[in-house]
Amino acid sequence: MNENGTNGSNGHGVIEPAAEPAIENVIIIGSGPSGLTAGLYTARANLNPLLITGNEIGGQVAITYEVENYPGFPESLSGPELVEKMQKQAEKFGCRVEYDYVDRVDFEQFPYTVHTANEMEYKAKAIIISTGASSRKLDVPGENELTGRGVSYCATCDGFFFRGREVVVVGGGDSAAEEAIFLTRFASKVTLIHRRDSLRASPILQKRVFEHDKINIIWDTVVTSINDDDGKGGVTSVSLRNVKTGLASTLLTGGVFVFVGHFPNSHLFEGKVAMDEEGYLVTDKLMRTNIPGVFAAGEIQDKRFKQVATSVGQGCAAAMEVEKYLADLEDRSYPGYAALKAPAAATVTASKKF
Ligand code: NAP
Repeated sequence: MNENGTNGSNGHGVIEPAAEPAIENVIIIGSGPSGLTAGLYTARANLNPLLITGNEIGGQVAITYEVENYPGFPESLSGPELVEKMQKQAEKFGCRVEYDYVDRVDFEQFPYTVHTANEMEYKAKAIIISTGASSRKLDVPGENELTGRGVSYCATCDGFFFRGREVVVVGGGDSAAEEAIFLTRFASKVTLIHRRDSLRASPILQKRVFEHDKINIIWDTVVTSINDDDGKGGVTSVSLRNVKTGLASTLLTGGVFVFVGHFPNSHLFEGKVAMDEEGYLVTDKLMRTNIPGVFAAGEIQDKRFKQVATSVGQGCAAAMEVEKYLADLEDRSYPGYAALKAPAAATVTASKKF
């Protein structure tokens, strides 16, 4: 066998078989608050968990400038700080963190197999899926071409580049409100464009937006295109349409920050794990998916609460259920054990485009 565990010569011309990967107790896919909490709890349960981070360690909260509503931190802290503390705490108790991206899973054969971008193959008796959600796009002309050239989905990452300039924020939820407020640190003026006549954001954020002298709101309006009028490869304006009057207009701006919600990162599990029509994995109260031993936590299965605090709770619950599942599996009393040996085809709802 060679270092990669693939077939290889032992130096005496004898081909040795590939090494079988060790069977992990539990693999956690994703490193947001739910995944890191699952890592902490399964580590403290002596399950020696393996957590595979995905491309963005920490998930969405890692690109949040300030977290004010996570209990225990009355002074608030930054998203990256919170993620770092969560990771440190999980690792302190033995959670192994691999910086890699899962690109294929096989839940038909037990133990389950997870393949990664770094060409690793892992096997596990239990899986916790916590791949979270990603920013939704506006899907208007100019958006793709100008992403990174004035169009952004992360104020914390890109706000600094708009010092002294006028920017637009699209959306009416907590993210749009919070990030519009954040952008006033850099921008000379922030115009919030919302498709209705009232915000979805929480009252405390609405109040701050309304009272902020650098924030202007354009109601009942959608962005119809993002423009590079002088052809220099950057945003110069947005085309708008009032949804009530139908009136079209143009607003000059140097940047467009889009916060119009999220979609679940569940492509990997299409046809493998039951999901709803929006692509959210379906779980029961015990965080179980329809595949025995495969659990899901956080925004990959939660389209209602989507808070760091709720994701943490769901990660904790999934970990505790994994512990119980593995113990039951050990004494073969787990009700799904027969199914594990020859898993029935998953009842999978075909997901729409998301
Ligand atoms: P969200 O609550 O789903 O809000 C998305 C906003 O975008 C809505 O106002 C929606 O309009 C608008 N929108 C959707 N599609 C659009 C389109 N194609 N064109 C124009 N506007 C569009 O998403 P979010 O603000 O990212 O928040 C997600 C979750 O995270 C929420 O549960 C939120 O409470 C939570 N969160 C919490 C905090 C916090 O507690 N500090 C911070 C950030 C996020 P409508 O209102 O008309 O639907």
